[in-house]
Amino acid sequence: MTTTLLDVNGIEVIYNHVILVLKGVSLQVPEGRIVALLGGNGAGKTTTLRAVSNLLQGERGAVTKGRIELRGERIDNLSPAALVQRGVVQVMEGRHCFAHLTIEENLLTGAFSRKDGKAALRESLEKVYHYFPRLKTRRSSQAAYTSGGEQQMCAIGRALMAQPRLVLLDEPSMGLAPQIVEEVFGIVKTLNQQEGVSFLVAEQNTTVALRVADHGYILESGRVVLDGSAAELAENQDVKEFYLGMG
Ligand code: ATP
Repeated sequence: MTTTLLDVNGIEVIYNHVILVLKGVSLQVPEGRIVALLGGNGAGKTTTLRAVSNLLQGERGAVTKGRIELRGERIDNLSPAALVQRGVVQVMEGRHCFAHLTIEENLLTGAFSRKDGKAALRESLEKVYHYFPRLKTRRSSQAAYTSGGEQQMCAIGRALMAQPRLVLLDEPSMGLAPQIVEEVFGIVKTLNQQEGVSFLVAEQNTTVALRVADHGYILESGRVVLDGSAAELAENQDVKEFYLGMG
C-alpha cells in the first residue's frame, strides 16, 4: 500500500488580492513517487509549487482556500525554512545558483538548516557527486562559468544537501539541450529509485516528464483538467494532440 506524502486539497491562490490564479487545485504525491504537473504557459504550475513551499508571499500571492498536508499534517502555514526541515525543498525555475560561488559552495548552501557536523556534510557532498559526476569535475568552478545543464544539476544537488523527502522541481528542462534534459531526468529517476526521494515536477516538456513520472496532472487556467498514470496520459488522445504534438 502506498501512503500519501503530499496532499494538496482544493487550493485557491490569489495574486495582488484580486487575480484568482488557482481555482481549486487538488493533487497528491504518494511516498516514493514522481508526479508530473503538466500544462502550458501560465497554467499555474509554478504557482502550485510556490503554494506548497509557501513562497507566494514574496510574489504578493496567497492561498485563500483549501489545505496542504504532508503525511497528514497541515503545512500551509509553515515558513519555507520549517518546510525544508520537514524535508520539502523547492528547486526554482531558472536555477538560481549563486553566480560568484563555486559549485561546491553552492551545494553547501543547501545544507544551511542542518545541525549535523562536517563529516555528515562531506558524506552528503560525496553522495551528490556520486549522482552528478559532472559536478565533481566542476566543483571548484564558479557557477557563472558552468553550463546551463551543470547549473540545473547544481540546483538539484543543492536541494539534495537538505536531505529532502519531497523535491518540488520547477521546469528543469527550461533552456537545456534535449540530451541534457534526458540526462537530468535520468538522474531524477535514479535518485527516486535509489534514495526514495519523491518529486513533484512542473514541466512543459510533457514527453520527457511522462517518461519518468509515475502519475501526472494536467493543469489548464488554474484547474486540473485531467490526471492519470503516466502511461495512461501518454496514450490519451487529447494529451497527444495538445501536449505531445502528435494530433
Ligand atoms: P510558466 O511555465 O510560464 O511559468 P506556469 O504554469 O508555471 O507557467 P504560473 O507562473 O503559475 O504558470 O502563472 C499562472 C498565472 O498567474 C499566469 O497568468 C501569470 O501571469 C499569473 N502570475 C504569476 N505570478 C504572478 C504574480 N506575482 N502576480 C500576478 N500574477 C501572477
